[in-house]
Order: sequence, then C-alpha cells, then structure tokens
Amino acid sequence: MRVAVISSEAVPYSKTGGLADVAGALPKALKRAGADSVLITPCYLQTKGEFIWSTAIEDLWLEWRGRSYRAKAFYSEANGSPTFLIDAPEFFHRDSIYGFTEDYERFAFFNHAALVLLKRVGKKIDIVHLNDWHCGFAAVKLAHLRFWDVFWKDTRTVFSVHNLAYQGGFGSGELWDLGFGSRFEQDHFAFEGYASAMKAGLSASDMLSTVSPTYGVEIQRSENGYGLDWLLRARSSRLSGITNGVDYEVWNPETDELLAANYSWQDLSGKRTCKRELLDQFSLPVDLDTPVFGTVSRLTSQKGIELIQQVAGEIINLGAYFIALGSGDRSYEDFFQRLRNAAPGQVGFFRGYNEDLAHTIEAGADLFLMPSRFEPCGLNQMYSLRYGTVPIVRAVGGLHDTIHNFDRVSGQGNGFKFGPFSAGPFLEKIYEAVFAFAEPETWRAIQVNGMKEDHSWENAAQKYIGLYKYTLQL
Ligand code: ADP
Repeated sequence: MRVAVISSEAVPYSKTGGLADVAGALPKALKRAGADSVLITPCYLQTKGEFIWSTAIEDLWLEWRGRSYRAKAFYSEANGSPTFLIDAPEFFHRDSIYGFTEDYERFAFFNHAALVLLKRVGKKIDIVHLNDWHCGFAAVKLAHLRFWDVFWKDTRTVFSVHNLAYQGGFGSGELWDLGFGSRFEQDHFAFEGYASAMKAGLSASDMLSTVSPTYGVEIQRSENGYGLDWLLRARSSRLSGITNGVDYEVWNPETDELLAANYSWQDLSGKRTCKRELLDQFSLPVDLDTPVFGTVSRLTSQKGIELIQQVAGEIINLGAYFIALGSGDRSYEDFFQRLRNAAPGQVGFFRGYNEDLAHTIEAGADLFLMPSRFEPCGLNQMYSLRYGTVPIVRAVGGLHDTIHNFDRVSGQGNGFKFGPFSAGPFLEKIYEAVFAFAEPETWRAIQVNGMKEDHSWENAAQKYIGLYKYTLQL
C-alpha cells in the first residue's frame, strides 16, 4: 500500500504544535509497519538546511492564478521516511508558519504543488492522508480529479482533524481563482456565506478521522462543533478516532540526551538529578522533597490557562514549586511573569518556544498540569506519563482517553482528572495529588503505572493501516 501524508508542518522540518509531531512520526511508523509512505510538507525559511539531502525536482512547474510558477522539491529522510519539501519562497519563506491574511492561498498552493509533485514522481498512490484545514483543498481536488485523470482513479482520501477550532475561512469569491471553478467543488467549501477549507476536507474526503475517540464524539455536539457538528454527525459512519502515539525515539527518559541523567521505571534515581537540574536552570532554591508542578503549552484559552491562573495562588500557598514554559496570549504571559515576580523562590517562567527546556521540564517536574478547555489529543500528558511526571488533566478529548484517575484500592491509574471547567474540582485533584506525593510508595506506584504504558506509534500506525484498508474497499 502506498500512502502520501500531506501536512503543513512536520517534525523535524517545522513545528508549531502537535500536528507536526504526528506528521513527522506517522510516516515513519507506517514505513516500519510495512506501508510505502511518503511525506510532503512545505520548506519554510526556518526548515533547517541540514535536513535537506538533495533536490529531487528542480523545475516543478505550476499553473497558479493565471501565472506559471517554478517551484522546487527537496528530498530528505531526516524524519526516518522519504519526504519531499516543497520549496516556493514566495509562499513559505516568511518569519512564521501561519498568521498571514492570505494563508488560505499559501496552503491552496501547497496542496496544488503536492498533487502535481506526486503525479510527476509517477508512482500510483492508494491513500492520500490529509491533515487539518490546510489540506482541505487537496480533498476537493482529488474528489474531482479521480473522474477524469486515470492517475488518480483508484486513490482514496483520509482527512484527519487535529483541531477543529482552526478552519481556514476565506471569501467564496476567491474559489474560482484558486482553481475551484465548478459548482461541485464550490459546494464542498460553502459554509455560512464564505468558504471553509476545513469544511471542504470534511465534506469531500472518503474517510475522516480525529486524533482521539472522545474528541471524535465531542465534535459531533453543537458546543464543540464550530458549526460543523451537523456534517460530522451526517458522516459519523465515516469518522473514527485514533489516539496519537508518542515518538519514543525523541521522548524517552532512558535515552534522552537532553537530560542531566537518564532513568527508567525500574530505577527512578536519575529523575531526582533531573529535578535538581530543572530547579537550577530556573535559579530556584533546591529542595528535592517539595513537589514541582510543571506545564509546557501554547498559552491560549484552549489550554485552560484561566484555570491555572485561578489555582496558582493555592499552589504557592502549599509551598510547592510552579514552572511554566510557553508563549501565546499576552495576558497569560504577563500573568506568569507577575507570578514569578511575586514568588521568585517558587516560580519559574520561560516565555517562548524551547524544545530542550520542554524535555528538562518533563523530566524534572513531579506533576504536569493540563486543564484544557478542549483537547483533540494532547501529547504532553503522554510525554509526562513516560517521564514519571504525574499528569493532572481535565477529562476532555484525548486527555480523557489517556489519563485514568489513580485508585488507592486497586492501585490502578496513571494520574488525576476532573470534569467541570472550574477551579474547585481542579484544586481537589491538586490536593489529592500533593497528598499522594507525600507518600513515596503511593507516588511511585502512580509513576510506574504511567511509565510502563505503551503509547508508541506502532499501535496507532496499525490502526491507520486498518483504516486505509477499509477506505480502499469503499
Ligand atoms: P497543541 O498541538 O494543541 O499545541 P499538543 O499537546 O498536541 O498541543 O502538542 C504540543 C506540542 O508542542 C508538544 O510537543 C509540546 O511539547 C510542544 N510545545 C508547546 N509549547 C511549547 C513551548 N513553549 N516550548 C517547547 N515545546 C512546546
């Protein structure tokens, strides 16, 4: 089976969030599982040169908006599987990946280039796996092309929703110019008076998936559907939830070279060294018996930062440490900075994006806070499990699927989770966790339960292969 995974970001070439982790890891897991996979992603200004191995195609000529463009395709296997990086400086050499008014045009171009490239390479593709709104354009194109281009006749599409909140909306008047002139194509995009690339992907693809079973159910409800819940309900027989995996080549305390010491569930002593290192890095006084609460996150309202704001004072009152890494909304950044200024002996805050520090926090913290408002899958809670850093999460989306309350009687469970979006239930779990932390044997049991779990991509890749096979029979 030959699968082309198309994504607007992919580790190690580019990353703003979990989508990049998935798009980087899935093709390589598919390859290990026996599928012939290829990844296609843009070459951004920040895509480091060291990852590019050769120029596969010097002259990828594209007709676009009445002009001829000459793009290039670089080749790499830096993520462990064959990858083509579309190089079109006019669209992708910018100081950030997203955030431009013409993003819809940039990714429509990317989709167009990806399909032209695949055809130029010439190997028939069974499944084109599209991700989030940035790939909705290709879903519509392929639904159309298969009727008159023999190369695409047997190709089927799978469209994965990583976050329904971002929809790629733009004026319907642009569609014709973007190459979607027919009524058949335009109908897929039509959404409340404008064009939505997310809706197009959901409407035109042969099969749909989301990144956790619970999120797959949540987005069919009006409160989480962003106006598209009706379409997801209508297509629910084509929608499945597959929880993301963790790339244990990158996130594994036994081998992680970014840590002050390595450790495993059999021998956790290295985690204390990592805790010391973390406190040192944030210039905090070192008391290894005091719990460290950590968080690594985009600072947006999705991540439930309001709830962290509401409980932070109590964490300080408990005498614990609190360390945050993140950037995003200014008001949240300012809050963490003020908290740091108010309790400089207990609080650490790094504003920005820092991959190395994310590893240091995962390893050095005792508890990880993730009280998300909604969470399609979430990766950090799964990294935390492997690093023996006990997660406290809200029971939504993938957090609900992966975290199970610790039960003192059975000894089962890998963390703490609460339901209502409110500080009271969150605090209750914080108290419960701090209480458990004070009992070394209990704490070790929770840590080991989480560390022994297998959230590898192998599992998820098998499920995707099953989904691809099912899609090909439709
Ligand atoms: P989302 O995709 O919604 O941001 P996920 O939990 O799925 O959330 O994935 C977030 C990814 O981004 C994780 O790999 C996390 O470690 C990383 N990340 C988020 N913020 C930062 C940051 N400030 N510095 C380093 N890594 C970060």
